Amino acid sequence: MKVKFLGTGTSQGVPVIGCKCDACLSDNPKDKRLRSSILLENNETTVVIDTGPDFRQQMLRENVSNLDAVLYTHEHRDHIAGMDDIRSFNFLQKRSMDLYGEKRVLQSLRISFPYVFAKNKYPGVPQVILHQIEERQFDIKTIHFTPVRMLHSSMPVFGYRINDFAYLVDANFISEKEKEKLKGIKTVVIGALRKEKHHSHFTLDEAISLFNQIGAERAYISHISHQMGKVEDYSKLMPEGMEAAYDGLCLEI
Ligand SMILES: [Zn+2]
Ligand SMILES: [Zn+2]
Repeated sequence: MKVKFLGTGTSQGVPVIGCKCDACLSDNPKDKRLRSSILLENNETTVVIDTGPDFRQQMLRENVSNLDAVLYTHEHRDHIAGMDDIRSFNFLQKRSMDLYGEKRVLQSLRISFPYVFAKNKYPGVPQVILHQIEERQFDIKTIHFTPVRMLHSSMPVFGYRINDFAYLVDANFISEKEKEKLKGIKTVVIGALRKEKHHSHFTLDEAISLFNQIGAERAYISHISHQMGKVEDYSKLMPEGMEAAYDGLCLEI
């Protein structure tokens, strides 16, 4: 299976509008980060995790012309704002798009996109089918997911384990019990916002310590803020086996 990083930035992306910091002015393409999302693809199934505000641009950049489903981690705007653009797949594939998330996330989609769920719909609005997931394992076509409960400040969110891979963004706490679900993974993606403490995201040091605890072979950080600085600088602070993901990075898992 392939994992493509569609975006690796925090909610404002990098560069931030109008910002003149070193990260935002960097000409290194790895310092250009759209909002965080990944695409999972095997021979039969293509699933995107989260549709942030850059979803359209990400689908165009990666030439995605077939998408089976969207799976959500949580309902913050930088993870759902691009949902309207699944319309293009409705027209292409001549069917509704399957959206997966926990109850609260689906409720938030209904509130955020009321026209999609209206009784009398404007022609051409997104056609979606909502699928409520629980804390137990589930399949989307041929891809098997294990939800990992995490806390994003006080908000419960989901990370996902897929085979020997796990995607854990937008969190600052995972219980020991939930960490058990990560045993034996080879590759982990951990959200690491910046170096300084934050109320709802892991810092770089916290991400490093989580990587050491999990014992995966390799780790990538994502959901990175411009406050982290330039990738060439913070890359030096990570241990062997750990590096910063970048937009367009593709992994075989
Ligand atoms: Zn900046
Ligand atoms: Zn986020």
